[in-house]
Amino acid sequence: MKAVVCHAPGDVRVEEIDDPTPRAAEVKIKVVAVGVCHTDLNFTSGQVPVPYPIVLGHEAAGVVVEVGPGVSRVQVGDHVLCSIIGPCEHCFQCEHDDHALCENSPFFTGTMLDGTTRLSSNGSPIHTLHYQGSYAEYAVVPERFVVPIRKDAPLDVVCGLACGLSTGLGAAMVRAQVKPGSSVVVIGSGGVGLSTMMGAQFCGATTIIAVDRLANKLDKARSLGLATHTIDSSKSDTVAEVLALTGGRGADYGFDAAGANGTLDLIVAATRPGATCVVIGRALGLVEITLNTTALLRQRIVTGTYGGSILPRRDLPIFVDLFMQGRLDLAGILDTRYTLDEAPQALDDLHHGRITRGVIIL
Ligand SMILES: [Zn+2]
Ligand SMILES: [Zn+2]
Repeated sequence: MKAVVCHAPGDVRVEEIDDPTPRAAEVKIKVVAVGVCHTDLNFTSGQVPVPYPIVLGHEAAGVVVEVGPGVSRVQVGDHVLCSIIGPCEHCFQCEHDDHALCENSPFFTGTMLDGTTRLSSNGSPIHTLHYQGSYAEYAVVPERFVVPIRKDAPLDVVCGLACGLSTGLGAAMVRAQVKPGSSVVVIGSGGVGLSTMMGAQFCGATTIIAVDRLANKLDKARSLGLATHTIDSSKSDTVAEVLALTGGRGADYGFDAAGANGTLDLIVAATRPGATCVVIGRALGLVEITLNTTALLRQRIVTGTYGGSILPRRDLPIFVDLFMQGRLDLAGILDTRYTLDEAPQALDDLHHGRITRGVIIL
């Protein structure tokens, strides 16, 4: 099959590799669409260590073509999303409904859950990005990461719910649980930031302030009807502007979808005492912060989310339904489609901010 293999930081190639076969509790999926996500850039740049060679891609939607022994929750022919959250459903965290923190789903090992590799090229092993490696014609994925969805949903749009779109929606709807009538500031107006605004709007936030350094991203936040206000942080004083828009008090909720040096500091300074601040993304492999304890003594909650803190089997079908009912404009966030051969270009376009949300269509 054809796959996009990262051999080393900066070395991404589209090539033929062996056709994979699912083992116990694994599902083989014919990939129909897969999102292009900033997280992939962490591995092509080498900022987050993974074993190479590795097949990239972690936002797949597709159709089940084969199941391994013991698979009971999906069947051949099912349309599915391959979530980045794969709860074992019996560890301490899963039993406390924190599926995103499952103790039996370690991040970025490059192997399958049993520690072995499932992909190969002429017999030599190739690793799998986050249990799916879906920049490929087929992906073998552990059953617990695979969520069936309704068959009338367009897979090119909903594939982003595997990671980026759910991360934003869930940050607002599940993690922060934004209250109606509230004010929200979001730093970073890419795909995750826009979906955070969409989640906040769905929850009834009435003031939604988008912050970015790129004018085209702010234009998109406004033209989609998500942001009530936009701030170009390369030109103006973000904190002063947010305070001016929120009665001098600061926003009720702040979301850091950029994850760059200094962005969380901005969020904390732009929110009111008692606010909730959520770290969603990271542009770099590692960003450290220093907070003045006064920010916390003023009862701000500074927290984070992985994957929007969703419970995939509960929330993904709900998000798909809301999209199909016209209540979440997920299609509006998507702006560029690529073929699998164009994957290196897609990653480069994302890295340089030329696209908001790309998808590879197979
Ligand atoms: Zn992603
Ligand atoms: Zn678990």
